[in-house]
Amino acid sequence: MAGLEPAPTAGQLGQRLSVLSVNGAALPISRILCLGAHSDDIEIGCGGTLLKLLDERPGLAVDWVVLSASGERREEAQAGADRFLTKAGERSTSVLDFRERYFPYEGAALKSYFDELGTRSSPDLVLSPYLRDAHQDHRTVAEIAAATFRDHLILEYEIPKYDGDLGQPSVYVQLSAEQATRKVALLMDTFATQLARPWFTEETFRSLMRIRGIEAKAPDGYAEAFHCRRMVMS
Ligand SMILES: [Zn+2]
Repeated sequence: MAGLEPAPTAGQLGQRLSVLSVNGAALPISRILCLGAHSDDIEIGCGGTLLKLLDERPGLAVDWVVLSASGERREEAQAGADRFLTKAGERSTSVLDFRERYFPYEGAALKSYFDELGTRSSPDLVLSPYLRDAHQDHRTVAEIAAATFRDHLILEYEIPKYDGDLGQPSVYVQLSAEQATRKVALLMDTFATQLARPWFTEETFRSLMRIRGIEAKAPDGYAEAFHCRRMVMS
């Protein structure tokens, strides 16, 4: 009954691409847009990738958007951007106050914000939450990002959580052991308000990067993984 079997995913087919290069040819990335629903999403999901990109290409332009953060979480969101983007060139940080956990009901306001964002930012790479993320805020951001940045490369990062929604990614970014360690240290140093949460530990972040590193055959054993729904090569 081959007709009923699901189509193989990109990962099953072994079509694993590097965000920095494909078969040795560098991707033309000069501006990155990072989208996070909440304070710490970007850093957890793709902090290592950003450190690597900026290690290898210092001076990259980065636009950093956190859609919901207030009080101490707002300060941490700003600090996270500052610490992860020390090697960036032109950069902007936007921390907004959309209502946390209610993003599906804030759709019109979010869409208007993204319409405006789409006119002022033309990134070569968008780093976004995952469309099938179990958190409704993350999903909403992914949906609106895909509708806004139709002609852009979007890589959707993953965030471990109670819901157990980690899937089978198709894109991996290999990290050095130093980059993985630096990511974890920055997370623990920046997000003091999260340290009481049982899952917010060095072990959580390191273990996911280690598993993705196995899948990516990373020389140092660490990687971050992404979902890519559409990639156009010319
Ligand atoms: Zn989040």
